[in-house]
Amino acid sequence: MKTLKDIDIDGKRVFIRCDFNVPKDEFGNITDDRRIRSALQTIRYCIDRGCKIILASHYERPEAGQYEEKYSLVPVGKRLHTLLKIKNELFMANDVVGPDAKEKAEKMQAGDVLLLENLRYEVGETANEEAFAKELASFADIYVNDAFGACHRKHASIYAIAKQFDAKHKAAGFLMSKEVNFFSKVLENPIRPFVAVVGGSKVSGKLQALTNLVSKVDKVIVGGGMAFTFLKAQGYEIGNSLVEDDLLDEARAIMKKAHDLGVKFYLPVDFVVAPEFSENTAVKYLPWQEIPVGWMGLDTGPASARLFREVLNDAQTIIWNGPMGVYEMDKFSKGSIMMSHHIAETHATTIVGGGDTADVTARAGDIDEMTFVSTGGGASLKLIEGIKLPGLEALEL
Ligand code: AMP
Repeated sequence: MKTLKDIDIDGKRVFIRCDFNVPKDEFGNITDDRRIRSALQTIRYCIDRGCKIILASHYERPEAGQYEEKYSLVPVGKRLHTLLKIKNELFMANDVVGPDAKEKAEKMQAGDVLLLENLRYEVGETANEEAFAKELASFADIYVNDAFGACHRKHASIYAIAKQFDAKHKAAGFLMSKEVNFFSKVLENPIRPFVAVVGGSKVSGKLQALTNLVSKVDKVIVGGGMAFTFLKAQGYEIGNSLVEDDLLDEARAIMKKAHDLGVKFYLPVDFVVAPEFSENTAVKYLPWQEIPVGWMGLDTGPASARLFREVLNDAQTIIWNGPMGVYEMDKFSKGSIMMSHHIAETHATTIVGGGDTADVTARAGDIDEMTFVSTGGGASLKLIEGIKLPGLEALEL
């Protein structure tokens, strides 16, 4: 992949599409700044080459065309300034392509950084509008896409904008190339045994990824809410647990494919079950055979944790996407926390994808033990599915 190292950027105006969509708490404090820290290498590289740097990102989902303070990138700008530790100015525009952004861009000196406001304040962003892309492109001589977490979306700052620059004036940023290279290396040439751990709420969101993974790995562990669709597909009673009845055939097809390919397929053997979806409810630890009618499984149980530990024991490569239970509630977080510990304990190359899963490893205190924690959940799933990401495609046009 062509990165900004391969093009001449010295002293130029560089537009960097970042993914600064970081989680915040109820007081507006940033709770996890990994996505900002991950962008520093690319930004610093441009600063050292005397560029004028224009940064752009979306932040959550504001009503298009409407400014709302809670979606502003101002807290991101402040954190970025602290992390960058630069003497130069970090300008913050109070619009995206409006008069403030243009005026501030005009005033920039070599090494200055300008952060535009939330791209999604403009309707043209999600509509992949060419006119808006042209306005964005007019800020710079060079376009750099470093927004791995957003590059599965065909939006103006990801896709349409890239057409405004020829091959010598656009490239991927360092974070983007690290993410993509890591996933492709692991998926193309994994050291075996290769184990996929897939969880989360729904089979539907990960169906394609699961189907693709089954043909690449040696073992699959399925946990989380999606496990119940697989159990029901085998005719078992699952009480009121989450299930996608319309996907029972697909679930059977995945298990058959695994069987035909000699891939070992593991489901939880016990669950933490409750009569209702609530933190303040009675719970029981039961094998799947004993889930009472009307109750639901909200986490994998201790016997499953032991089983999964054995399964992971000889792994050399592990890819993990999706929690084992409703980890947001303490009562149902143990299965995910144990999974995180077990994965961290192995000597395997471990890749964690998805915001929830990264959050679990952080809560478990294991995040530094993982080989690679991706900044993009949706984008990493698309890579696993074998789909070409629009953001990468646009860089090659
Ligand atoms: P996903 O976005 O598909 O990766 O799903 C993540 C969500 O799955 C988390 O918010 C979990 O709370 C939820 N989840 C995991 N296990 C279960 C379960 N057994 N029942 C309901 N939701 C679950």
